[in-house]
Amino acid sequence: MGAITIQRKKIEDVDLSKFQDVWIVAEIKDSHIRNVSFELLGKAKELAKELNQKTCVLLLGDNVKRFSEEFTRRGADRIYVAEHEALKEYYTGTYSAVIIGVISKYNPNIVLYPATINGRDIAPRIAANLHLGLTADCTGLSIQDGLLLQTRPAFGGNIMADIICRTSRPQMATVRPNVMEQAAIQNNGDAEIIELSIKVDLQGLKVKTKEVINETAAACGIPVCEADTIVSGGRGVGSKENFKLIEDLANVLNAAVGASRAAVDLGWIPKSQQVGQSGNTVSPRLYIACGISGTIQHLVGMKSSDIIIAINKDPEAAIFQFANYGIVGDLCEILPLLTKALEDKLNEN
Ligand SMILES: Cc1cc2nc3c(=O)[nH]c(=O)nc-3n(C[C@H](O)[C@H](O)[C@H](O)COP(=O)(O)OP(=O)(O)OC[C@H]3O[C@@H](n4cnc5c(N)ncnc54)[C@H](O)[C@@H]3O)c2cc1C
Repeated sequence: MGAITIQRKKIEDVDLSKFQDVWIVAEIKDSHIRNVSFELLGKAKELAKELNQKTCVLLLGDNVKRFSEEFTRRGADRIYVAEHEALKEYYTGTYSAVIIGVISKYNPNIVLYPATINGRDIAPRIAANLHLGLTADCTGLSIQDGLLLQTRPAFGGNIMADIICRTSRPQMATVRPNVMEQAAIQNNGDAEIIELSIKVDLQGLKVKTKEVINETAAACGIPVCEADTIVSGGRGVGSKENFKLIEDLANVLNAAVGASRAAVDLGWIPKSQQVGQSGNTVSPRLYIACGISGTIQHLVGMKSSDIIIAINKDPEAAIFQFANYGIVGDLCEILPLLTKALEDKLNEN
């Protein structure tokens, strides 16, 4: 007892009324806006409408003002642009310092971040620095009695927890890609653009990126997060070599290759392709689950797919309860037949 103590600043009585507006921190990658930014904007607009506040976007990077137009078309009220050549590469230190400064100056009521690799890296740092709460990986956000009700799975996805933040502002949450609906294009937007004057200290950086290696693109083709069609393999695939059957079908369908955590843990496929609670949340038009039993941790990551097809040799497998179509049998026999039939069909056309 008493071996560890955490000293926290006493929370002073905060005047909550000075915190206004619902903000999102947009993510730009490889010179394009990641879709999750539009998903956050869609939810932010809904929350702001209910609170009668404004929807604001924070754009950070080098030469990013040009992306304002896209957020304007989708109904943002105000866009804060933090442009600096030193923000060309993402560094936790520089990005978090800029966001902390901007939040402290403008006092937003709510700030939403994408639960991407960068968002998950930066949001906790900002929360810790400003002594704020942060709810990670929210699957639902709404307003209850003027507060942000942040809903997320807890205890392995077995319960949904509702979290509110009564005493500190801004209220902050991260949201996974493919969970919320994107803000629709309206074409009649008229957002106010605020260009921020910022200073960036690259000398003080403790960590510098020397090279970015895109393992996903190199090893697995299409990233699962952005795919329209996904063919996923689980432990039932049986071996790393057998994953070729999954890849062959994915190639014919121009699909991404996904996996359960079991397949990732066995070293058959990189972690970047994992679907589920501790992997990616996906929402493709078609999801083909091969040799995957359908545990809750996998289902939470893919159950909002439009069409689910399951291939499993166990007719009692839980995945069949969620699948629109099911094939009971050995995937080693079924997948080559399916791939061949689709190839023949494509050649006919
Ligand atoms: C905190 C936490 C987080 C987790 N996060 C995730 C996550 O993000 N994603 C995830 O997937 N899991 C996650 N898990 C693990 C999860 O609980 C399961 O262990 C995992 O999903 C099981 O993977 P699987 O379905 O591939 O394997 P299994 O459950 O072993 O199922 C294999 C299936 O393959 C079938 N099969 C076997 N051979 C064949 C064949 N020849 N042909 C056809 N079918 C065959 C079997 O009938 C069986 O249904 C998490 C667990 C925890 C505790």
